Amino acid sequence: MTFAVWEQLLLALLVAASAAWFVKDLTPKLRHIRAGKPEERPRLDRLGSRLLRVVKEVIFQSRVVGGRKVAGSLHATVFLGFLCFGLETLDHFLEPYGVPVLHTLLGVGGTAVFKAALAVVAVLVMIAISGLAFRRFVMVKISPGPKSYSSGVVALMIFLLMATYLNGIAADPVAAKANWWLHALLILVFPPLILSSKHFHILMAPVDVFLRTHHLGDYRPLDLDMEKLAEAEEEISLGLETVADTPWKMRMDFLTCVECRRCTDQCPAATVGQELKPREFVLAGRAALDGDPAAAVVGSVISEKALGQCTSCGACEAICPVGIEHLQLLVGAKRSQALASGVGMVATEFLQSIERHGNPIAPPGKRRQELLDELGIPLYEPGETDYLLWLGCVWTYNADAESSLRSMVEVLDRAGVSYGVLAEESCSGHHSRRQGEELQFQTLAGENIDRFEANQVAKVVTGCPHCFHTIRREYPTVREGFEVETIHHSELLMQLIQDGKLSLSGNGDTRRLTFHDPCYLGRYEGVVDEPRAIIARAGFSITELERRRERTFCCGGGSAGFARHADDESNRVDQERKREIKDSGAEVLITACPECKMMLDATVDETLDLVELVARSSRPPVAAQGAAEGEHPA
Ligand code: SF4
Ligand code: SF4
Repeated sequence: MTFAVWEQLLLALLVAASAAWFVKDLTPKLRHIRAGKPEERPRLDRLGSRLLRVVKEVIFQSRVVGGRKVAGSLHATVFLGFLCFGLETLDHFLEPYGVPVLHTLLGVGGTAVFKAALAVVAVLVMIAISGLAFRRFVMVKISPGPKSYSSGVVALMIFLLMATYLNGIAADPVAAKANWWLHALLILVFPPLILSSKHFHILMAPVDVFLRTHHLGDYRPLDLDMEKLAEAEEEISLGLETVADTPWKMRMDFLTCVECRRCTDQCPAATVGQELKPREFVLAGRAALDGDPAAAVVGSVISEKALGQCTSCGACEAICPVGIEHLQLLVGAKRSQALASGVGMVATEFLQSIERHGNPIAPPGKRRQELLDELGIPLYEPGETDYLLWLGCVWTYNADAESSLRSMVEVLDRAGVSYGVLAEESCSGHHSRRQGEELQFQTLAGENIDRFEANQVAKVVTGCPHCFHTIRREYPTVREGFEVETIHHSELLMQLIQDGKLSLSGNGDTRRLTFHDPCYLGRYEGVVDEPRAIIARAGFSITELERRRERTFCCGGGSAGFARHADDESNRVDQERKREIKDSGAEVLITACPECKMMLDATVDETLDLVELVARSSRPPVAAQGAAEGEHPA
């Protein structure tokens, strides 16, 4: 095709206008991001792992497809088209100036093959974008609202882009020159349009995914040095008090949200009809960037009530396909409540009990020592003991949890593991941190780290996923040089089985059994295979719950949920999980968290911690058992 000089000039002008429009609209967005507070954590460390994440989640669209199989696959097809058409678009715009990009790079034969392959992609993209538009505008019940007008325009443009490409390579194109210009104009309108719509994520998602924290809920300790705070010339914010306190990555998150509603669909509070809806606070954050910077985050971005309903389960952040970190906002807002305003907090009795007694459940009294004596649990001996057995508050102070601890001790003894406990153990501080009580968390963590160091502890095993996550991920950020290998009991049990130190067998129990993945074990730490492998060794096949593994559903106990008061019986998170467990037809429920067990107890005939199942299934044969019992008269 040949182009007159005036056409070359017109194209150059249009490209310049499109670029200028794009820059004009991009500038205020960049200004919002640049006005954000500095970040507390590195965002450019471990570059290899960040790049791999982009390849997996952006190029291969793993989260987009994993979250919603059909709609995600359609989106991935459109994205494939987006990638494939880059070279073709360059060729299209340089053609009027006599620069044959494709011919130069691929030769005549290669160009023909490339164009034919693109034709197939174009047809697939037309089908996929039609499917997405149908889902969005016709299947209104399942598609996330509100419907944006720009989505429809973008869908139509993508369809027309593909149609004009196909027409352009046809043997006898219809109105070839007009078709060429239409294709070019559609491309030129695209960049400004994406800036004024949720399609801004096309630009931002790869960056946001690249910058995301390496693990869920990567909170950094606030500097709470009172002297520094008192001497500071500028007022220092404690948490996210106002919109002006939001850091730049959080602002980027607000602007990147693609409004897909996956986070809200996964949120346990939203599922049971509570006020908390993660997508809404992200979009409220976006709107707040254009408002008064002095507006309080609690109130303008998220309501006090909604904030109090969060269980910190992490489901919203784990599902988000564009790298948004909901948890940073939630904990930041809670810190402002606990450390600055002192208003609107929940679970206050729980936190007061920790303040007074070092644990949230009961005055220590003699309970802990009596338990250690009764179960014959030894103290950790520096240089002698292999594992520090971290008990956690529920196993120590909740009488109903004694059977789990008893089983743990039984199994460790049976497998010949060298273990011991600390003479004193404070709450790990997990829930304090999630309620924004950063000072309390840092105090508790500091006390426990002192004890670890005094006892030269190198390895910790615990049955509590909350403590497991906190000691493993958060204590090293509280004190430099804290290097302790921390594992969950399910990992140790599996290791003991693999090493032949524990042997499990079925005991003829044919009841239907299911497993509930605790959020901080399955989603936060990815420990999902070990419990299942252990249950299989114990002779059971698991009737899986619909929401499981990394996509598990919270038991309602997170963020001290067992101490918070739900609005009414009809919209409690634990009731929803119990319903799902009951509907599975299971008669036995296994979990691997003292808090989950506490929340879900009595849902079915029997609820056991994983270690209780192991204790039952690894008992010695009856004769040996009788002999052993005879050696230890009560
Ligand atoms: S952490 Fe869990 S409860 Fe909190 S907003 Fe996210 S999904 Fe909802
Ligand atoms: S925050 Fe993420 S998951 Fe939620 S609506 Fe926005 S893009 Fe979707």
